[in-house]
Amino acid sequence: MAILNIRIIGDPVLRTVADPVTEFGPELAKLVADMTETMEDVDGAGLAAPQVGVSKRVFTYRIDGVEGHIINPVLENSGDYQPDHVEGCLSIPGLGFPVRRFRATKVTGVDMHGNPVSIEGEGMLARCFQHENDHLDGILYTDRLEGEDRKAALRSIRNANYDAVTERTTAKRAKSVGSSFGGASVGGGSAPGSSFGAAG
Ligand code: ZN
Repeated sequence: MAILNIRIIGDPVLRTVADPVTEFGPELAKLVADMTETMEDVDGAGLAAPQVGVSKRVFTYRIDGVEGHIINPVLENSGDYQPDHVEGCLSIPGLGFPVRRFRATKVTGVDMHGNPVSIEGEGMLARCFQHENDHLDGILYTDRLEGEDRKAALRSIRNANYDAVTERTTAKRAKSVGSSFGGASVGGGSAPGSSFGAAG
């Protein structure tokens, strides 16, 4: 297994709609294993394949001891919402903002062997599924912000200092020392404060 390099906002792969997986072989198994190891290394709650530069419909998740992967996911969301909660993203280091998400989500798809998978989640798990699935459609959580939060997020990302933050994060990850991520915070937005703060 290997720790993969996590792509940072500005990388076009994060804005590309990912392709369905059609081949279930050792290459896919390696991708899932490497993504899982990478997610654990940065103490993330989830990771989508585009975040490691692979434009395929695959994500891994890790919420409160519930860990796994899903391929070619399809989401069914409840009609109602859960209380807003701060989210972060491994591809947008140092920032965290409250995001509106559906209360419950059922995700169906297949595992790395092509076997059908169906998981239902509420709260953080549902939030994680929605966040990671968005990555497969080229959507980042900052796209879902409104009003002042949206302005603050965009301002922070545009800020010249933000490049320094992403560089520091990349360097820190490259060293991969024990790594609990969630340190650097840029002006605007509350620092990620939950387990989901370090989300995918
Ligand atoms: Zn993310």
